[in-house]
Amino acid sequence: MPDPATHLYEIEIDVDGVQSATLPMQLPVWSTGRYARVDFAKNVQDLAITTPDGRALKWDKTNGSRWVVNTAGARSIRFKYRVFANSLSGTYSVLDTAHANWNGAGLFMYVEDHKPDPVTLKITPPAGWQVMNGDTRTANQLDYKFENYDRLIDTPTEVAPALMVDSFTVDGKKYRTMVHYNGTPPAGIRERFVKDVEKLVRYENSVFSAPPLDQYTFLFNIGYAGGDGMEHLYSTEIINRRSWIDSLVILPGIGTAAHEYFHVWNVKRVRPMALGPFDYTKETYQPSLWVAEGWTQYYGQAALHRSGITDKDEFYASMAGVIRDNLTAPGRKEVSARMASFNAPFWDGAPQGQPTNGSNTFFSYYTKGAGLALYLDLYIRSKTDNAKSLDDVFNALKKRSWNAPNASYYLQGRGYTEQDVERAASEVAGEDLHAWFEQYVGGKDDLDYDAQLARMGLRLVRGEQWRIEEAPDATAGQRRIRDGWVGGRRG
Ligand SMILES: [Zn+2]
Repeated sequence: MPDPATHLYEIEIDVDGVQSATLPMQLPVWSTGRYARVDFAKNVQDLAITTPDGRALKWDKTNGSRWVVNTAGARSIRFKYRVFANSLSGTYSVLDTAHANWNGAGLFMYVEDHKPDPVTLKITPPAGWQVMNGDTRTANQLDYKFENYDRLIDTPTEVAPALMVDSFTVDGKKYRTMVHYNGTPPAGIRERFVKDVEKLVRYENSVFSAPPLDQYTFLFNIGYAGGDGMEHLYSTEIINRRSWIDSLVILPGIGTAAHEYFHVWNVKRVRPMALGPFDYTKETYQPSLWVAEGWTQYYGQAALHRSGITDKDEFYASMAGVIRDNLTAPGRKEVSARMASFNAPFWDGAPQGQPTNGSNTFFSYYTKGAGLALYLDLYIRSKTDNAKSLDDVFNALKKRSWNAPNASYYLQGRGYTEQDVERAASEVAGEDLHAWFEQYVGGKDDLDYDAQLARMGLRLVRGEQWRIEEAPDATAGQRRIRDGWVGGRRG
């Protein structure tokens, strides 16, 4: 980062142990967690490929993101190039006078067929700037080791002149919040913010048990242009343009933290079959984002109340909003939850050069999946007298996939299929839900939320604002199930 104002990162990659006559190098065309194909290679410039002593090597391109080097017998090869980066987001990277923030898929090439190999990263920051990522363990740490390429690019990094770093412990794990704040926050608010993050972690760990890690880091940019959240194995990256104001019940960054932390299990570890290991050479189509994103959306929204940040009225309002969208969005009659998931590369972060009819033909798998999660949670709680809930379905899915024998070099267990989801839900509900899944997950029928809410003494009120009201004549049994749902308790 020799000249931040130019937005140009200088990258140098040394590949050792080369034995072949040609060496193919690849830059990902997409970045995990955002499904559009974005072709990061368009921002690569000034490429020079040499031996370590500076002898130039010939190379060719076979497509936009793949370079093939004629090694001419060299055993070590050095790649030098610059990457233009001027976008603070969960997918792209930025380098400017305020900070550097990168997502590795856009910066770092890999050797074809060698993603499983260990890699090291050495960072050279501008003088006086501080480095922070999910793997930072000591102050001013500039050298990092990753077990494979996937972990390198799954470790977004912030480098800035001043970072606010706090930590807390939950379930014996160290959690850190790093905030790169634009300006000076009001007195006392930083403490409240960290406390709110801790509340979310406590609740979410109670759903799926503490994740298998010793350290997790929330990387926030607050008050900078943009708005995004992105999940990673040991960290999350959250960007919110609004400043912290005392009177806000949900401080900027907190709603996204509630969502992103749920991903520590849902999608990052318990994952659809196609999402780990990853194919970075082309965009990935798969049917399960309604679980990976939709359930995360549901739990993230519920977590704000269940963790003690918002009150019950906000919880009902938030859930009524999910139901309203699921019963009114025009696109819901065009795409099923599975097909909306499958088409994610068309919509999630995709540049729309071509005018589309997306507002009528697409319905977000976030909202549709949240609606299905909400329904299943209500259904299972009512059916089991609150002995079980969607938490148990998620844990059954985790058992089927995460606890299965390792399927590849990448991480633990295997990815799940749509059949795994159906079976996990059926196990917990105590009945075969195949027909239900065909009708509402593979199909496009509207769910009967009124009936499910009525079973626990709640009423859906449609109007300008949709509301959920507690029925005054609810029985003690109904109130118990209802309180279990609202509070996120079962049994
Ligand atoms: Zn998400």
